Amino acid sequence: MQRFNDRVAIVTGAARGIGAATAKRFASEGANVAVIDLDESAAAATAESLGAAKAIGIGADVSDEDSVAAAVERVVAELGGAHILVNNAGVTRDNLLFKMSAADWDTVMSVHLRGAFLMSRAAQQVFVAQKYGKIVNLSSVSALGNRGQANYSTAKMGVQGLTRTLAIELGPFGINVNAVAPGFIVTDMTDETARRVGVDPETFREAAAAETPVRRVGQPDDIATAVTFLASDEASFVAGQTLYVDGGRKL
Ligand code: NAP
Repeated sequence: MQRFNDRVAIVTGAARGIGAATAKRFASEGANVAVIDLDESAAAATAESLGAAKAIGIGADVSDEDSVAAAVERVVAELGGAHILVNNAGVTRDNLLFKMSAADWDTVMSVHLRGAFLMSRAAQQVFVAQKYGKIVNLSSVSALGNRGQANYSTAKMGVQGLTRTLAIELGPFGINVNAVAPGFIVTDMTDETARRVGVDPETFREAAAAETPVRRVGQPDDIATAVTFLASDEASFVAGQTLYVDGGRKL
């Protein structure tokens, strides 16, 4: 029994990293998958690598209203429906407050918050009509506060508020909304952070592992397993929650 047979899963920011691992796990459990990312050719390459019965890559900016509407319409037209949305697309623009530009604040808010709002609003039209849907949002341990991430931390705590509110509004229509808050996960995002602070990525990972109770850093699949659980019918009584998947490490 595959948990996602006859389901269509949309994963944003899924050309690489956590999104790609999540898309792969959905595909391996029977889902047809839409990989949404800024670059359509990168999204299409990932979609092709999933081994899904049907998968498409769509180039879309989640913070752009028209782009989001067109992307969701394309998913429904080409994959025959939509049942699961994972709001995973993300960016960082880290800096201490006194050096943070308004543009970097706006970019981070726009991708994480406006993006999750626009994608959820577009998807709920389909979900409400069919009285079935799952939304999983990506928060972060940084929501609890992290030096140099005033923008990102604010956005990721905002994601938790959005999650609780959408769970309340959409629950009566058979839609579960939850969030996963990853700790340190090995992706391009954490490697870029290492380079920005002048540490080589391997040393950066070792330091993070040493501070983590389970004594390792996370891999994208550690998040994919949590996301797919929350998107499955096994979690149908879980709503409005943020699950920290961080090896026990809180900032
Ligand atoms: P990643 O490797 O940087 O991948 C993020 C993906 O999102 C990229 O493919 C990126 O496209 C895409 N993207 C960025 N802006 C977009 C937009 N406006 N519209 C559509 N796609 C967009 O990041 P990751 O580490 O896998 O992170 C995935 C999610 O988990 C993010 O929400 C992140 O904040 C969260 N998270 C990550 C960690 C971690 O340790 N890695 C920890 C906590 C939370 P481009 O390549 O074209 O920029």
